[in-house]
Amino acid sequence: MTIESSLRADIVEVGRRMYAREYTDANAGNISVRLGADRLLMTPKNVCKGFMTPDMMCITDLDGRKLQGDLDPSTEMLMHLEVYRHRPDVQAVVHAHPPTATGFAVAGIPLDRAVLAEVLTTLGSIPIAEYATPSTAELPEAVHKYIKAHDGMLLANHGALTVGPDLFSAYYKMETIEHFAKISLSHECSGAKTSLPARRWTACRGCGACTASNPRRRFAPIPPRSTSARAEQVQGTSPTVRLSSHPPRPHLRGRDSCPASSMAGAARTGPMATGKFG
Ligand SMILES: [Zn+2]
Repeated sequence: MTIESSLRADIVEVGRRMYAREYTDANAGNISVRLGADRLLMTPKNVCKGFMTPDMMCITDLDGRKLQGDLDPSTEMLMHLEVYRHRPDVQAVVHAHPPTATGFAVAGIPLDRAVLAEVLTTLGSIPIAEYATPSTAELPEAVHKYIKAHDGMLLANHGALTVGPDLFSAYYKMETIEHFAKISLSHECSGAKTSLPARRWTACRGCGACTASNPRRRFAPIPPRSTSARAEQVQGTSPTVRLSSHPPRPHLRGRDSCPASSMAGAARTGPMATGKFG
């Protein structure tokens, strides 16, 4: 099996997993990998990612010109090109709409609480790129702001984007984001303001698996807020620590603090793009 045929098969498999896990619906989502120094292998537009075949993939250059393939490349190709231009280390890009993570993206809530060590060491903080209409030139502009410093991000009112040194690495980061979003939703609904103990946090920073080998991962704790310090006193845990310099979202209180309620509100009023994507 050649490298190209192997990559085509890998894209089919990742698309199948994304659809099976309901990270995409209908023809949504897109996947690409580098094929040598100046070519990309990319999913086609208007095709369900759960039922692709290897021959469906398009080959483009880094300017987005189609070089090979019966179908046209993804309508989100510009976003992929933006990533490859600015991240020579990236070999693969995955975009999907995982429901819980996308709910946070609709609600405008970044996944930036230091609560899970696995997330700290694989992704660090997960910011939200500003809203941009899918399939337009606005989207790569929104991604541009964060891609140099992050391997995963939410896309406001849209979905999530992950990158990696190979396709499965990029895909697993998408799994991690959705898993983290589900846990974060339960955490927020519980009303607790807990986070990893600061001493663990310090140890994590020095492990060598994250910041030492990858300066992109920012593990700068934000000073605890007074409400968090109170939580520490009551529950015997460390103050809430955030992973980056994103401004703290409005403090959530009481029953209305469940992000699901703000997600529902934002979904009703948020900009909803129409048309065919994929
Ligand atoms: Zn999308």
